[in-house]
Amino acid sequence: MTKESLKDKTVIVSGGSRGIGRAVAMELAREGANISFNFRSSESEAKELEKEIQVLGVKVKGSQVDIKDYDAVKSWVTDTVSLFGGLDIVVNNAGITKDGALALMSPDNWKEVISTNLDGTFNLTKAAILIFMKQKSGNVINITSVSGVMGMARQTNYAASKSGIIGFSKSLAKEVAAYNIRVNAVAPGFIETDILKDLKEDYMEQMIRKIPLGRLGESVEVAKVVKFLASNDSKYITGQTIIIDGGLSSA
Ligand code: NDP
Repeated sequence: MTKESLKDKTVIVSGGSRGIGRAVAMELAREGANISFNFRSSESEAKELEKEIQVLGVKVKGSQVDIKDYDAVKSWVTDTVSLFGGLDIVVNNAGITKDGALALMSPDNWKEVISTNLDGTFNLTKAAILIFMKQKSGNVINITSVSGVMGMARQTNYAASKSGIIGFSKSLAKEVAAYNIRVNAVAPGFIETDILKDLKEDYMEQMIRKIPLGRLGESVEVAKVVKFLASNDSKYITGQTIIIDGGLSSA
C-alpha cells in the first residue's frame, strides 16, 4: 500500500467514538482520509478523537447522531458532503449487544439490537448510495461479526442482525457493482473493546481457549483490514466477508 493511499478521500464511520470505530477512523485518517464520524452519547471521547485526528492534518468532524434515526442519519450524510465536498467511503460500524437466552429475551432487547445494528446499516448506506451511484464510485464496508457467521448462544438478536448485514452486503454488492461501487463486510471475533465488558470472566476464559491463536483481537487488527478494503489494493474484491477472529470460526 502506498503512503497515504486514501489522501483526500472522505470517509463516514458510524460509531467512531470508541473501540473498533475509533481505530478505523484513526487508521484511515493516517492514510490521508477526511473523517466524519458519529456517536450516541460519548461526547468527550468524540472531542478527544477529533483532536487526535486534526493533528494528522486531515479534516474531521464528530456528530451526535443516533444511527437508528433515518432522517437524522440522512441529514448527517448531507452535512458531511457539504462540509467535506464529497463522499467516497462508508464504514457501518455502530453496533450494540443485549445478550440473553431467547426464552428470557424481551421484545425491547430484540428490537433495540436489530434497529441499531441492522436498521442503522440500512439508514447510513441508503443515505450514501445515491451519491455513490451518481458519481459512479463508492465503497461500503460493513462491520458484522463471527456471531452472524457461526452463531453464538445468548445472541439470537445480535447474530440475526449480523447475519442480516452479511446478506445485505452480498445483495447490495450485486446490485451496485455496475456503478463501480464495492460492498464488503468484515467479521471480527472477540476484540478487546467495551462491548465485551458485560461478559463473565469464566465465559471469556472458555472462549479464549477456543481461539486457535489463543488471545483476544485488537481493534487495530480489524482497522487494518478495513483499510485494505477501503484502498485500491482490494479493487477486485466485492460481496465478501473477511473474518478476523484468530481462527475461532475455523476451529
Ligand atoms: P463499542 O461498544 O466499543 O463501541 C460502539 C460504538 O458504536 C460507539 O462509538 C457507540 O457510540 C456507537 N453506537 C452504539 N449505538 C449507537 C447509536 N444508536 N447511534 C450512534 N452510535 C452508536 O463496540 P465495538 O467497538 O466493540 O464494536 C464496533 C462494531 O464491531 C459493532 O458493530 C460490533 O457489533 C462489532 N463487533 C465487535 C466485536 C468485539 O468483540 N468487540 C466482535 C464482532 C463485531 P457511544 O460511544 O456514544 O456509545
